[in-house]
Amino acid sequence: MQIFWKKEFKCPVCSNEFEAVRVFSNAVIVKKRDTDFMPIYEGINALYYQMVTCPVCLFTAFESDFQTELTAKQKDLLMKALEKTKRIGRPNLSENRDISDAAVMFSIAAVIYTLLGASRKAAECYLKLGWLFRQNHDFAEEKKALQKALDHFENYYINEEITSQEEPMVLFYLGELNGRLANKKKAVEWFSLLVQRFDSSSLYARKARERWQDIRQSLRKTQGGNAV
Ligand SMILES: [Zn+2]
Repeated sequence: MQIFWKKEFKCPVCSNEFEAVRVFSNAVIVKKRDTDFMPIYEGINALYYQMVTCPVCLFTAFESDFQTELTAKQKDLLMKALEKTKRIGRPNLSENRDISDAAVMFSIAAVIYTLLGASRKAAECYLKLGWLFRQNHDFAEEKKALQKALDHFENYYINEEITSQEEPMVLFYLGELNGRLANKKKAVEWFSLLVQRFDSSSLYARKARERWQDIRQSLRKTQGGNAV
């Protein structure tokens, strides 16, 4: 079975035209998912190939954002930032990339989305960066990335117009990330808001109910039987 193909892109920052490695969707097999939906793949790890990077200026984003028109001011801002991000390292963009290449790509993209004021996408990049560290058993770095993801999700929920389609996902991660970062009471608050606002037709509301129970049980154990 063929795993990779190449797609042409034009960089919205430096206008370089290049080909990026993409993965055929039928080559991706999700074996199971962690409680925060982190996929565990069998075979190719699709997370390594999710982001697209311009090999010249290292602009890195989700595929669809390569069609975004940036203003001259935004381009200038990103070019300056990208010069600095080159210190993070230059990722291997071939088919043979590894977990550290993918971590560099998500790190650069997180910086870019933060600068563009796109909190939800910055949060997603930090979340996936956290997943890469978890898969690498680097739990200290995972925690740092998840904290940044949480900060961006919070900022997004408080300051942006959120569609009802997106809201369950954002509420779920506010609960789940607080739970993973040992803010269990906050996790319970966000999960309870999610299950109040959305019924079980939402996958996120169903998962939140499960996670809420897990956390309440663990709190009961640590508090010697007191219910939350
Ligand atoms: Zn570029």
